[in-house]
Amino acid sequence: MINKDLLEQYDKYLAKTYNRFMLGIVKGKKDLVYDSNGKEYIDMNSGIAVNTFGINDESWKEAVISQLNKVQHTSNLYYSEPQGQLAQLLCEKSHMKRVFFSNSGAEANECAIKTARKYSHDKYGKNRHVIISLVNSFHGRTITTLSATGQDVFHKDFDPFTPGFVYVEANNLEAIKEVIKSKEVCGILLEVIQGEGGVIPLDEHYLQDLSYLCKEEDILLIIDEIQTGIGRSGKFLSYMHHNLKPDIVTCAKGLGGGLPIGATLFNKKTEDVLDPGSHGSTFGGNPISCAGAINVVERIDNILLEEVKIKENYIREQLTDSTGIKSVSGKGLMLAVETTKPASEVIAKCMEKGVLFILAKDKVRMLPPLDISLNNLKIAIDTLKEACKV
Ligand SMILES: *Cc1c(COP(=O)(O)O)cnc(C)c1O
Repeated sequence: MINKDLLEQYDKYLAKTYNRFMLGIVKGKKDLVYDSNGKEYIDMNSGIAVNTFGINDESWKEAVISQLNKVQHTSNLYYSEPQGQLAQLLCEKSHMKRVFFSNSGAEANECAIKTARKYSHDKYGKNRHVIISLVNSFHGRTITTLSATGQDVFHKDFDPFTPGFVYVEANNLEAIKEVIKSKEVCGILLEVIQGEGGVIPLDEHYLQDLSYLCKEEDILLIIDEIQTGIGRSGKFLSYMHHNLKPDIVTCAKGLGGGLPIGATLFNKKTEDVLDPGSHGSTFGGNPISCAGAINVVERIDNILLEEVKIKENYIREQLTDSTGIKSVSGKGLMLAVETTKPASEVIAKCMEKGVLFILAKDKVRMLPPLDISLNNLKIAIDTLKEACKV
């Protein structure tokens, strides 16, 4: 349900960049949201993996309000406590060495790309600047992160792009070796589970071999954890399922628990690449966003991660071999379902019944709050199963 005036405002004044569901969300509580008529919905997408602990979470809200009572912005010309504290927490949990803060996923990836190029420039001189990314990847909407994105649908109409990006087929190590032979490569950028590409995990062997190849060739392994990170996959960061040792890691979405923040993490090899003046952001590391993020990151502990895995198992058990469901992919609470009926029909049916899912390519995607209640999870999955029946 959506209020007519609001619909008219959108029609008249907003850029037409989104195909929206006919639903206006006016408030929420944890894993539930409400429209202007008071109709209740179970939120199975958390604002695309952003509201890690759902909506209006008490502890998170307290952390944010407490910071709001102190100072909302300082600029990065001064020191600010939330930024220092969050950086330390992120480094401790990821075993990375340093962090640069920005405001979004695309910006976190921009910083990763700049760092990879500067690393190579400092060490090998000009021209060793090519970054390999994967077909079907998604890395953002700025011109450079679009250039890194291996999906033509996003490219249409926006050329010319930033040079120096090459796409290769996922899970094909030979394809990468071919590029390395013919081009001067400084980095490989990938998602361990391709999110917008349809929630598709990369192969274990491929990741291991690729990681080894990167070390041997001194090519930086850059992992985009923007959708998969911050507990979403059942580990703090999804590469931890595979014991990978990336050189640069990017986070955003779930990090702020609903506030805009991006983070680019560096290891020993890359921690000193960015020096004074080489990069910056006015809003990056904003104290309010950092206070929210500290609350989120502190709460991603082993008990919560275990809970995420238990919920994944429950969902898989329920959906595997259920009528109208062809497959389930993904990890933790980042899952997608291939349905016999068109996914958009299934999603519309579920919305009617009070459960919100979203699309990932032609699949039904779910990214619920990590602490979704078992009761609401059960209702959501039962509703999905029912809607998939032909
Ligand atoms: C969402 C997403 C981005 C872009 O993040 P924004 O905050 O929208 O700029 C980049 N990479 C991945 C894997 C994402 O899922």
